[in-house]
Amino acid sequence: NSYHPLENRYNTMKYRRCGNSGIKLPEISLGLWHNFGDIDNFETAKKTIQTAFDAGITHFDLANNYGPPPGSAETNFGKILKADFSGYRDEMLISSKAGYTMWDGPYGDWGSKKYLVSSLDQSLKRLQLDYVDIFYHHRPDPATPLEETMSTLDLIVRQGKALYVGLSNYDTPDFIKAVNILKKLGTPCIIHQPKYSMFERWVEDSLLNTLENEQVGCIPFSPLAQGLLTNKYLKGIPENSRLAKPHGFLTEAYATPEKIEKARKLNEIALKREQSLAQMAIAWLLKDKRVSSVLVGASSPEQLTDSLKSTENIEFSQEELQLIEEILNR
Ligand code: NDP
Repeated sequence: NSYHPLENRYNTMKYRRCGNSGIKLPEISLGLWHNFGDIDNFETAKKTIQTAFDAGITHFDLANNYGPPPGSAETNFGKILKADFSGYRDEMLISSKAGYTMWDGPYGDWGSKKYLVSSLDQSLKRLQLDYVDIFYHHRPDPATPLEETMSTLDLIVRQGKALYVGLSNYDTPDFIKAVNILKKLGTPCIIHQPKYSMFERWVEDSLLNTLENEQVGCIPFSPLAQGLLTNKYLKGIPENSRLAKPHGFLTEAYATPEKIEKARKLNEIALKREQSLAQMAIAWLLKDKRVSSVLVGASSPEQLTDSLKSTENIEFSQEELQLIEEILNR
């Protein structure tokens, strides 16, 4: 075992309370949706996790289906935990989810008790863990009664397989319904995980205020719009990019010339702030106190190190904010 976490790993990262819960989250958390599957480089993945932990990132976000192939991100993370982090489980907040398609047949998808219970059992085996810290319902299920899904989250906590529960991709009305059911059951929802970035702002309509009122934490995913809000695509599509990879979820249909042009203009503001575009895009989310943590992805330790510097400046002048709104056509 050659990895020893840095002694001073808690010196620079700031932590924010997650809603009205007992836990704090690092301002930046690391997600394993891409870059940690069996098709990715294991050594790079391992170094990225080590870099994260050394910088005070305590929160690692997974889901049953992350890979590819689905499940392999959990398996690989489990291996890394076992090899390098065996003495550090209690310093880490590890989350997983179920809600998207995971296995064939009628029980490997959506929000039934049957699916959620068996999926978490599979996740724990892959992760080689007894429990996860946060278990999410990954997306709302229009067909399963909300009571069934929420009472399953409550059950999972009572069984000790998760310490806390969260919801992801729920719109405001469904979120309010779910939160009230969970309150009655005695297992509060402590966190919501929505898509939120300069390019995706639906949460600003009502979700953010609702989360504040309900005292539920908010952890935006895809804060860099999967890489579009970085300097990566300003001069074309690099070979080694999510957009170029056949299994990447970022598509040319989404990466429109209009978005790239906006990214170019945003990059000019970022440079004036002496930040990379990635840093400014993360800082722009962190300026809002309702955001508990920003959930980034990274395909290398260097990218993560770049993104981590965003926390050095999360203040924006009125002029900067106005310019950003103009570029984003708001
Ligand atoms: P980001 O928007 O942060 O995109 C990450 C990608 O951006 C990287 O893979 C890399 O692209 C590029 N990148 C990252 N940092 C830099 C940098 N500093 N400079 C240049 N390029 C950079 O987030 P993700 O879309 O990866 O999502 C983050 C996490 O959110 C996921 O891992 C997952 O945990 C969660 N998530 C949850 C969802 C849900 O439904 N609940 C859905 C989607 C994500 P490249 O690979 O091309 O180098």
